[in-house]
Amino acid sequence: MQGKYSLKNIDIVNFLFLTLTPVLAIIGTYYWVKIDGFHMGPVILGIVFYFLTGMSITAGYHRLFAHRAYDAHPVIKIFYLLFGAAAFENSVLKWSSDHRLHHHKVDTEEDPYSIQEGFFHAHIGWVFLKKNGEIKEKFAKDFRHDPLVMWQHKYYLLISVTIGMILPTLIGGFFLGSFLGGFAVGSLVRIVFTQHCTFFINSLCHCLGSTPYTDSNSAKDSWIMALLTFGEGYHNFHHYFQTDYRNGIRWFHFDPTKWLIKTLNWVGLTHKLKSTPTDKILAAKMHMKSKEIKSKAGESAEKFMQELEKLKAQALETYQRLQDLKTEYKRSKKHLAPMSLQEMKARISATRAEFDACLQQWEFMVKNYSFIQGLI
Ligand SMILES: [Zn+2]
Ligand SMILES: [Zn+2]
Repeated sequence: MQGKYSLKNIDIVNFLFLTLTPVLAIIGTYYWVKIDGFHMGPVILGIVFYFLTGMSITAGYHRLFAHRAYDAHPVIKIFYLLFGAAAFENSVLKWSSDHRLHHHKVDTEEDPYSIQEGFFHAHIGWVFLKKNGEIKEKFAKDFRHDPLVMWQHKYYLLISVTIGMILPTLIGGFFLGSFLGGFAVGSLVRIVFTQHCTFFINSLCHCLGSTPYTDSNSAKDSWIMALLTFGEGYHNFHHYFQTDYRNGIRWFHFDPTKWLIKTLNWVGLTHKLKSTPTDKILAAKMHMKSKEIKSKAGESAEKFMQELEKLKAQALETYQRLQDLKTEYKRSKKHLAPMSLQEMKARISATRAEFDACLQQWEFMVKNYSFIQGLI
């Protein structure tokens, strides 16, 4: 055991909570089945609470409060504050100040859950330490003026016990025929699952997967991790474009947190959704691909790399032109004569075709770099 995990550094309450909840979850579930008999009610309650609390962490604590990736109606904010507290992961004030520090100092000694200090530390060990959860004022200034966040911080324990333990127990008892089932599955089992899925973001999402956008830090993209973390598995993208309300940017990327935020936007409950311009994402991806090829091909690829860079610049320039044309078209749609609009549409189509051709050529060069390199 490393020195920092000596007894005097351990936060005994956190340690006991995190180690005892899994044990009590198993014992509670055993006695629920033994006394009241197994039925699906408490299991469904546990799953529903798992989604409500888990997504209050990802959509609320993480993307709304810590990163300000969008804005939300006060009703949604209050919901996140209540059900996020039920995950027993600290108040928004503490959680977000830790998380902002993690982004700011990722992989350094100041990163509260740095993967450089080992998997155990990044996953759960850091929560055992006394210094965890100290509010870093530099990263919490905006919250001091947010009455809802400060209210949650003040009554955090009361809220978390009420929503996270008492509520599922009462639902279990009054509607599903078992207080014990509601407590064991809706509360204890669910808390263990929610917590470890969040912890995976700090541990596995900094170990497993690819680095398509940046290699400046340890964060990885993994669709498997996305399945376990409500879409937070696209962590490489997130560390590079942290104010984007999405983590999985393609429509098929499994990111239920993004879908929730977008759905709430359609019904007017979230707004000012921030998303990274596509050309910036494209530039980051192309840059990483060039780096990968350069490291594989070595110095001999100099001429090939020059051609690739030229093509990349051309693709990005064409993309920008396409965006400008689209904006221009939208702006002048109502005022221009049909003929001029037709002409503009044709220019947009031609520029799109030019961009697609450029991208295809770039992709072809990347895929066949070892063959093409020999020809240049
Ligand atoms: Zn991270
Ligand atoms: Zn983040």
